[in-house]
Amino acid sequence: MGRWKTSASLPPVVAMGDWTDDALCRGMPLEWFFPPTGGHHTQGKKVCARCPVMEECLVWAMVTEQPDGLWGGKTTRERAAMLRMPAAV
Ligand code: SF4
Repeated sequence: MGRWKTSASLPPVVAMGDWTDDALCRGMPLEWFFPPTGGHHTQGKKVCARCPVMEECLVWAMVTEQPDGLWGGKTTRERAAMLRMPAAV
């Protein structure tokens, strides 16, 4: 299943849903989404920007606290910054 964790290894509340079936990154180079140290996410971000499940992907990554990689078009640093933002009321 490539970069995806298996649903069986996650509690039901954060199990991946069918949205992964529509992930545009399937079959694309893993380094676009998990670049080596000093690399960039440019190519991966272009893919994410066109992905029909970008929101689902981002939510899943944040709920499961993915420690690295590009998810939902956001890098680890960008996701951390989002968590520090005050909640919209
Ligand atoms: S948003 Fe990006 S990382 Fe997430 S499924 Fe889509 S292409 Fe893959």
